[in-house]
Amino acid sequence: MEVIPFAIIGSGPAGLCAAIAYGSGAVIFERNKQAGVKLLLSGSGQCNFSNALPKDLFLEKCGRAAKFLKPSLYNFDQNSMVSILLKAGCKLYSREDGKLFPASQRAVDVRNALLNTALRSGAIIRYKHRIDSIETYTDQFRIHSNQGDYIAQNVLLAGGGKSYPQTGSDGSLCRVAENLGLKVSPLKPSLTSIELRDKRICRTCAGISFTPHSIHISNHPGLSLDAGDILFTHKGLSGPGIINNSYLFEAGSKLRVCLVREAAKIVQESLTARPRMQLHNALCTLDIADELIKALLTEVNIDPAQRACELSRDCRKKLIDLLSNLEFEIYRVDSWDKAMATSGGVMLSELSSKTLESRAVPGLYCAGEMLDYDLPTGGFNIQVACSTGYIAGQSAKKKTSTNLKPHR
Ligand SMILES: Cc1cc2nc3c(=O)[nH]c(=O)nc-3n(C[C@H](O)[C@H](O)[C@H](O)COP(=O)(O)OP(=O)(O)OC[C@H]3O[C@@H](n4cnc5c(N)ncnc54)[C@H](O)[C@@H]3O)c2cc1C
Repeated sequence: MEVIPFAIIGSGPAGLCAAIAYGSGAVIFERNKQAGVKLLLSGSGQCNFSNALPKDLFLEKCGRAAKFLKPSLYNFDQNSMVSILLKAGCKLYSREDGKLFPASQRAVDVRNALLNTALRSGAIIRYKHRIDSIETYTDQFRIHSNQGDYIAQNVLLAGGGKSYPQTGSDGSLCRVAENLGLKVSPLKPSLTSIELRDKRICRTCAGISFTPHSIHISNHPGLSLDAGDILFTHKGLSGPGIINNSYLFEAGSKLRVCLVREAAKIVQESLTARPRMQLHNALCTLDIADELIKALLTEVNIDPAQRACELSRDCRKKLIDLLSNLEFEIYRVDSWDKAMATSGGVMLSELSSKTLESRAVPGLYCAGEMLDYDLPTGGFNIQVACSTGYIAGQSAKKKTSTNLKPHR
């Protein structure tokens, strides 16, 4: 049986960039009949493939995984990615907020650019090959697929996470990694919205967003979350302040939002400055949508139409408490078919950050979303998948012996 020098499982951005780095001798196994199906859906089909933030700020967005991801990002950064896409004829544009997109706003152009570059570099791709298990076999790997077995000298697992399982990324390669002896932390939907237990406020405020001063979650006390904008939906909450923190949320946990810093002082000033106005109008300096102010007041049985000067001491205290500490109980975090990413996966401590090779199983590499990192929206996920895939491909290339022995 012929020995494959470098078998790559998965043709998402991580697998394709690994193939680009490795070149001839790389064989990609993909269960679908086309490459990068999730990439095609990304950015609502427009593919926000990276972010132009300077590398130190980019790494800040990587949170606890920053130290591990640093060698990958410094080895293959946004410029490396841009250069591959431009060489393949995919023109680009950078938005004011740093997000990078193909100029055509078509994800398929990014997918085709990566795929064609990988094929031109000498890699080959075998579609409709679902990998069910992998065994170590002396110093090689036996790969069991629905189309038969293969022997490989090195293997990269790049099967993505578990979100949008209809794209082919269903978490199955995390099980394969676990069976090979790698530690895998539990998989959980992330980059997603939440449903609230009490939906009353959603009925009146769906579509309204606000900018919180700070956000906390009861199951991680003491942790101050990224305070991005929050949007009311018909069933719960969404927006960057929810989506980017969702990997920390659990059903039953309580979200505490401070809407206004120094609420006591600001409420006092607003009411004193406009004593004859209706209460909700007097609070206009709070920079919170009128419908939301009315809904919040109604929530604590305060009439929004009463005059500001008529507000009793008790009601003023209730209002200040509400603005300082608005609490929502999470009924559930949206499921796999709505989540844009997966939290959990192959634990970073299992791999060398410089090569992405397993510490325990030489020749086994893991890259992309199946690793245990949590990144916000904004192009970080695709860039990190590409950077980790690329360094894994490059490391495997350095390691591959030029003298392939036939398998006995
Ligand atoms: C709706 C949506 C929008 C998104 N938008 C953005 C965005 O704009 N910007 C951004 O940065 N990120 C975005 N993401 C996240 C981003 O797409 C992923 O993080 C990225 O694709 C991960 O790349 P990957 O190569 O690790 O895995 P994937 O892209 O998931 O690729 C894994 C591949 O492995 C294959 N595979 C899995 N298991 C097997 C198996 N057992 N055998 C054979 N093949 C297998 C799958 O079929 C798949 O093709 C979005 C995600 C979703 C769901």
